[in-house]
Amino acid sequence: MQEERMQEETYPFVVRPLPYEYDALSPVLDEETLTFHHDKHYKTYVDNLNSVLSDYPELQKKSLKQLLTSIETLPAAIQAPVRNNGGGVYNHELYFDGMKSPVGQEPAGSLAEAIDRDFGSYRQWKEQMKQAAVGKFGSGWAWLVTDKDGKLSIVQTANQDVPDLDDYVPIFLVDVWEHAYYLQYQNRRADYVEGWFNLINWRKAARRYEEGFCKLNNM
Ligand code: MN
Repeated sequence: MQEERMQEETYPFVVRPLPYEYDALSPVLDEETLTFHHDKHYKTYVDNLNSVLSDYPELQKKSLKQLLTSIETLPAAIQAPVRNNGGGVYNHELYFDGMKSPVGQEPAGSLAEAIDRDFGSYRQWKEQMKQAAVGKFGSGWAWLVTDKDGKLSIVQTANQDVPDLDDYVPIFLVDVWEHAYYLQYQNRRADYVEGWFNLINWRKAARRYEEGFCKLNNM
């Protein structure tokens, strides 16, 4: 599942299978947690988005990214449902696609260099990313994004909101809704986030970084 392909998706949206087995992220995320998250929570966003768009043929040709970057031009009655459910689809696909079995690897290549340049070191970046995720009040996400100059930023969004996708390309993100971790970690969000760092698919992240930079510069 390439990010590009995800962004080009149009109605009817389909539930993308996980790119690994349901127990592949254990012990950080156990099979039950991941199964509920993917098969129930994520699927509900897909179903709801399709339901919202079913009465609007003129919007069915728009890609997910086009919908999410033009919310204010949509009919007033569906702005909130598209924002919430379209964001829910986009965010979960990127989240699931950005993880792999925990192997304790660290960033490499140009993304590793950019992290050192923009945050001082991997350790300092990790501390800030953890703060953003653990400190997000209520439900939402913490993201690592790049701008068109290749500069990295950590961003928080509430609910299922996305960053400005015209100006930033997401590298990866961590879901801090309770449904992402509660079955396994109950209230211990910090333990879940600490584990999530071991699930980051750095090779995929490096590719998103390099492709994102090109895309933002129309290269
Ligand atoms: Mn979620």
